[in-house]
Amino acid sequence: MFNKILVANRGEIALRVIRAAHELGVKAVAVYSEADRLAPHVLAADEAYLIGPPPSAQSYLRADVLIDVAKRCGAEAIHPGYGFLSERAPFIQAVRDAGLVFIGPSPDAVTAMGDKTAARARMIDAGVPVVPGTKEALRDAAEARTVAGEVGYPVLLKAAAGGGGKGMRVVMTEDEIERAFESAGNEAQAAFGDRSVYIEKYLVGPRHIEIQLLADRHGNTLHLGERECSIQRRHQKLIEEAPSAVLTPDERRAMGEMAVAAARAVNYEGAGTVECLYQDGEFYFLEMNTRIQVEHPVTELVTGVDLVQWQIRIAAGEAIPFTQDEITWEGHAIECRITSEDPANSFLPSTGRIGNLTLPSGPGVRWDGGIATGVEVGLFYDPMLAKLIVHGPTRLEAIDRMKRALLELRVEGVDTSVPFHLRVMDEADFRAGRLDIRYLENHEAELLGASVDEELIRAAALAAALLEEERRTQRSVSRPQASTSASGGSAWRNRAGWSRG
Ligand code: ADP
Repeated sequence: MFNKILVANRGEIALRVIRAAHELGVKAVAVYSEADRLAPHVLAADEAYLIGPPPSAQSYLRADVLIDVAKRCGAEAIHPGYGFLSERAPFIQAVRDAGLVFIGPSPDAVTAMGDKTAARARMIDAGVPVVPGTKEALRDAAEARTVAGEVGYPVLLKAAAGGGGKGMRVVMTEDEIERAFESAGNEAQAAFGDRSVYIEKYLVGPRHIEIQLLADRHGNTLHLGERECSIQRRHQKLIEEAPSAVLTPDERRAMGEMAVAAARAVNYEGAGTVECLYQDGEFYFLEMNTRIQVEHPVTELVTGVDLVQWQIRIAAGEAIPFTQDEITWEGHAIECRITSEDPANSFLPSTGRIGNLTLPSGPGVRWDGGIATGVEVGLFYDPMLAKLIVHGPTRLEAIDRMKRALLELRVEGVDTSVPFHLRVMDEADFRAGRLDIRYLENHEAELLGASVDEELIRAAALAAALLEEERRTQRSVSRPQASTSASGGSAWRNRAGWSRG
């Protein structure tokens, strides 16, 4: 095992990796930009180094600086988290060239899966079902028109270098194809420096279901079941769960075997995810994410396997000691991404300093967060502040637990996506497991429009709780702590004191 690793990331995932390292007895080194001096990941690490100004191009994306820090502080390996440099093959190669271990797959595997057209071609060769469409990038708008005609409308134009839903255009009819080809190319150029786009058949109303993988360098490649990620906004996930409400054990096995075949085709090592579209019992390979994903905790909660620890163990050369048959799934887990966005205002990013923070806890609740009171939330980085994850015996119990936990959560200082999540937990189709990737579009009015004011509900719940506490302290004379905190100013501060007491 390593003695010390460097975590080349920030926010909740940096903290998650630091925790995994500490549980393995490994020292963790944090890096931070000038905007992150007070960030929780900096405080949690054994050492921390300033790597530059707030823009990520001058800090978290500075491969040379990160490698230099790792060498100077004596770290043996680098964990990239997700985003930033996690899927950049030249960075992985540079880490290796510096005599360090990259905690993740080889540069070749990342390259093979990084270009979506190349990955599709490879998967077709490996016998993996892909969405019908082109194997190669389109040369020009005329070719786009011809190919789209062959595939049949509606089609989806996609950036070969794509990610995060960028460079993607749904084209319903032939007269839109040329303009869509140009705009998808322009967006891909701006986002990835590569304007190549290709065509896929646009499936109407599939589910996004993905398979988690773990592979070591001793020939073990296992899948850990699926995650349902159909609740998306602009092709970006908002809520994820495991298992999916629809997959049968046979389908799970078939999808798992397909994902294992995909990983084996590129000699994959570490944790990875094969993303699929699923419709009417059929599934199609979309892409492979060659890193840990945001939504990995739901898989951890239902399988009991610590994926981040295994990333580190595998990079250190350990063999996975359990077999496919030994992986079992228990209960149901749900994750809500808590972002600094205002759902009542088209998810407009919200900035500010985090004030009072009351975190949910209790049975089956996990908080993977990267914020703390006093931390400034700006526009330099992704708006995801934290993830709230719950586990329960059944799907409905998990949903009700999530609702309870969301109601306990209090983030002052910025608007968050919490009101949106609360509405989803009460929405009939979600509760019934009737989901597909159009879920948000189809429920926009109930989920995003003005309806019951959650703040009022919370204020009422708080008032009731405070009243109850007041009654209790009056009955008992041996509770000086509770009465001290109850005299402390604002209602929310009272509540914090109350919940701690
Ligand atoms: P990115 O890498 O940009 O996130 P993906 O290929 O992973 O792109 O797709 C993101 C999302 O876009 C999917 O989860 C799904 O909602 C939608 N999508 C992608 N391909 C198709 C398709 N062929 N038909 C319908 N929806 C699609």
